[in-house]
This record gives sequence, structure tokens and C-alpha cells, in this order.
Amino acid sequence: MITPSTLLPWQQADWQRLRAYIDQQRVPQAVLFTGNKGLGKQQLAHLLIQALLCDSPKADGLACGQCSRCLLLKAGSHPDFLNISPEAESKAISVNQIRGLIDKLSLKPQFEGYRVVLINPADALNNNSVNAFLKCLEEPAERSVIVLVSERPRTLPATLLSRCQQLPLATPNRQVASTWLQQQQPQLTTADSQVLLNLAQNAPLLALEFAHEGILDLRATCFAEWEAIAMHKKHPVLVAENWQKLPEQTVLFWLTSWVSDMIQWCYLDKPPRLYNQDLNKPLHDMAKRIELKGIYRLYDLLLASRQRIGTTINKQCLFEEILINWFQLNQSH
Ligand SMILES: [Zn+2]
Repeated sequence: MITPSTLLPWQQADWQRLRAYIDQQRVPQAVLFTGNKGLGKQQLAHLLIQALLCDSPKADGLACGQCSRCLLLKAGSHPDFLNISPEAESKAISVNQIRGLIDKLSLKPQFEGYRVVLINPADALNNNSVNAFLKCLEEPAERSVIVLVSERPRTLPATLLSRCQQLPLATPNRQVASTWLQQQQPQLTTADSQVLLNLAQNAPLLALEFAHEGILDLRATCFAEWEAIAMHKKHPVLVAENWQKLPEQTVLFWLTSWVSDMIQWCYLDKPPRLYNQDLNKPLHDMAKRIELKGIYRLYDLLLASRQRIGTTINKQCLFEEILINWFQLNQSH
């Protein structure tokens, strides 16, 4: 479904570039939007699709939202819009889906103007479907534009990448991101919004998602358990049992950010680039109690653990190893 969206404040330059393609009638055959989660790749891809299919775009090049074709698109029944995504979550885009697409592209578009295909996420194409899809790109169909979205473009084959015009979305600067986040969530304190943006690595939509999910409360709970292990008041294996139910990528990122801040506290009186400004006091205190060499070893273990996510690694074992290491690190002092 293509939902009407507005241009996000940090996407102005990207939009001008896309708009120039349309104005000058040199829209690439395939456009690939890339960038970290939470930067608004889908929104921008949707804006491009809407603009390409609209009958009377506005002065800024964006779709009018009111013409019959805009309404068809909104209703999910525009005949010249084809949406390809995995049939079930975490499944691949199958070669059959791509064959179906090729069949449809062999027919003429229904309306004058562009026909648009959205492939989202493009990294869900498996080897077979990529090979079938490359045919679409080698033999361009009439007036057709293929829009692809990917968070992990490095996993895409070079043969595909080289046939796409890539549009990497930039991370907005902190001021723009934080102004936007506060507009969306006026009840957030400035301190909380800064921490949320740190945790989202400045991706505003991800920070907003974190705010909706109440991620700061969950993080506070995990931090309390992390502290309790350091004080030898909780057993690492029991905490690992709780943590294996949580999103491991998020928890590992928190752990890495805590340890990274601790390392900075070991070197500097006022570290300028901390992730966890709200945890300055406890992280500073912890850093003082532990041997620096040990903190570095733990940091390395965390980086290695992040690499192992997505493999067959057992989450309980993963967290046990880290937390036992943390427990022992706090033993000697
Ligand atoms: Zn329109």
C-alpha cells in the first residue's frame, strides 16, 4: 500500500534531485533507495512513486493527491503500479513473483505516463529471483520505472547494483532530527529525545519508533540488571534468560554503547561524544572500578557478538558469555 506522506525536512535535497529527473524526463530505469533504518527511505520512495503516477503534480513536484490516478493509487487499485514484497515476513521474494512481474511488464501500461514497480525490500530477492529480475533490467519495459528500497545494499549483487541509480539517504544533522522528533512527540523531555536520537544513531523515524515502544523504560530495566551483575547481586545466567526474549540487536547496541562510554570515561574528564548522557554517573563510577584492559576485552566480545547476530547462534548463550564476562570483570576489584 502506498500511503500519502509528506516530505521529511531532511529530504529536501534528495527530493530536488528526484524532481529534476521527472522535470527533465530522464527518470532512471531503476532507482535504489539505501540507508539505515529510520531515515525515511520508504517515505521518499512513495513520494517518487506518487509523483510519477500523478496526473497534475503540484508546483513543488509532489503528487496532487486528488486526481483520479492519485485516488486509484491511494485505494491500492492503480493498474500501472506493481508492488513486489515478500509474501510472508522474513521470507524471500520468490522467483515466481518476479516471473509474474515480467509477464505484466510485457503488456502495455494502462494509462499514458509512467508505470512503476516497487521492490521492497530489495535485499529479500534471493539468487534465483535476482537472476530473473536482471532480465527486467536488461530489457527495459515501456515507460516503466523500478523503485527499489534496501537497508543492506551490500548484500545485493554487483550486477544488480550497477544497473540501478543509487540514492543513499543521508543522516540528518542533530538539530534537524531533534526538532522534528520534538514536533512529533511534544511530551518528550529534551534529555530523553537526545538519548533516543543517540540510540537510533540519529535516524529520526527510528527514534520515534523507540519513543512509541517505550524503549527507554526497557533500557532502564536492562541497565539496572547490568548494574546488579556488577555488584554481584544478580546472577548473569538468570539475567541472560530474561534478555534472550528481547530484540538482541537492540540490547547488544545498548551494551556496546555503555561499554564504549565507559572507555571514554577512562580517558577523558568530560567526554564530548557520549551515547548515554542520562547514565553518566553510574557509567563513570563503573569505569573507575574496572581495569581498562578488561573493558577493552569486553568491547571486543560485544563487537564479535554483533557479528554473530543472524547466524544460528543461541541467544541465551550469546548473552551468558557477555554477562559472565562482565560479572568476572567486576570480581577482581
Ligand atoms: Zn494527482
